[in-house]
This record gives sequence, structure tokens and C-alpha cells, in this order.
Amino acid sequence: MRILLKLSGEALAGEKKTGFDEETVKRVGLQVKKLVDDGVQVGIVIGGGNFWRGRTSENIDRVKADQIGMLATIMNCIYVSEIFRSQGMTTNILTPFECGSFTKLFSKDRANKYFEKNMVVFFAGGTGHPYFSTDTGVVLRAIEVEADYILLAKAIDGVYDSDPATNPAAKRYDTISIDDVVAQNLQVVDMTASILARDNKVPMRVFALSEDNSIVKAASGDFNGTTVTTN
Ligand code: UDP
Repeated sequence: MRILLKLSGEALAGEKKTGFDEETVKRVGLQVKKLVDDGVQVGIVIGGGNFWRGRTSENIDRVKADQIGMLATIMNCIYVSEIFRSQGMTTNILTPFECGSFTKLFSKDRANKYFEKNMVVFFAGGTGHPYFSTDTGVVLRAIEVEADYILLAKAIDGVYDSDPATNPAAKRYDTISIDDVVAQNLQVVDMTASILARDNKVPMRVFALSEDNSIVKAASGDFNGTTVTTN
């Protein structure tokens, strides 16, 4: 079994909303370790929103702003990788562009090699291109490394038909097809990533990171959240 786990940058910040919160990351790490110890191959993609969002920076060029965003995701991966190592895991960080000795250049073969050694593989730097997101990055890498599914750990506990923050009558789906996600423009991942997941049949499980043991439960399939199917 090979899975990719997507965490938002904000998730690393805990209550602080910016930077890192070590306790939050350690809670994630304990769960990832349990999966790895059980023989699951785990890849990690992390956003950058705890540091930077390219599109909100009005006064600088978007391409440059996005480069800063991609670098933010690498900082996040280096941090989380080190916390995971302190918890007894072995890790490697792959990026789509050279970062000297900080990371290794992504290739499918290299990722496979690390997965087979039971290392946690971080896919940092997004797609390596501006105008994309780490949502697209995680779907792209899931396709490339032939992951079985993506775990989307979110601030919200699944996929709703409307925003529960503004509509108290919003209904959560237990299961929804990726075709319906795209057709109804539902916020699971961004639209570019949704279409990539639909066209390449990448299943996803959406759940709240804050719930106890939610990553392990989602990986087992018996979890509180939404399954996004591909058939
Ligand atoms: N980013 C990018 N290309 C990618 C992935 C990320 O340009 O393939 C940049 C973009 O500026 C984005 C930031 O990195 O705003 C952080 O990524 P994340 O996916 O967290 O962005 P969000 O969609 O939350 O803004």
C-alpha cells in the first residue's frame, strides 16, 4: 500500500496560524510512524500558507511570488522531516528543482527506491512551476508514483455540498465521485487538481486533521470524513 498525505501549511502552525507548532507536527508524526511500522509506504506533500501565498502578494510579480511559495513548502518539509526523524523515522526530501544538498531532485525511480526502503518521502516544492498549488502537486505525484490514494487532512471534516461556516444546513457527503466534485465545483482540492485527479482516477479521503488519530483511521478506510471515488 502506498499513500500520499497532504497537509496544509496552516496545519503545521496549530493555533498560531503562522510558522510551526512542534506539538501539532509531533502528533502527525506519531500517526505516520504507526502507518510506516505497519508497512504502509507514506509520501507527504505540505502547503506553504503558514509562510506565504503567491496570489495574495499584489505588488510583486506573480511568478516570483510563487517561487517564494514553493520555497516555503520546502522549508515546511525540512522542518517536518526533522521532527519525523526525531521520532525514529527515516526520511528523504525530493524537489522538482535542484536545492543543492538540502534536498534531492525528484524522479520516479528515486521515489520508488526510498519508498521500498520504508522511508517517508517528502515531495517538496510543489510542481516546480508558478500558477500551480500543492494540491496539484500532490495529485501529480500520486499519479507519477502510482499511489493507491491521497489522504487530505484538512481543517474541515469532509466534503460538504456548501460551506458549513456560512450555511448551517450544509450536508456532508460520506462518498462522492470525483466527477461530481468537478461538476459541482466542490472544494476538495483546487479545480486544476480536481480535474487531474478525475482524468487519472486518483481516489481521495478527506478528513479533519484535528480529530484524534484521524490519519491512521483514514488510512484504514474506517474514518469520519468523505471518500472521493473515481468510478
Ligand atoms: N506554489 C506554486 N507552484 C506549485 C505549488 C505551490 O507556485 O506547484 C506556490 C504558490 O504561490 C502557493 C504557495 O506556493 O500559493 C503555497 O502553496 P499552497 O499549495 O499552500 O498554496 P495555496 O493554494 O494554499 O495558496
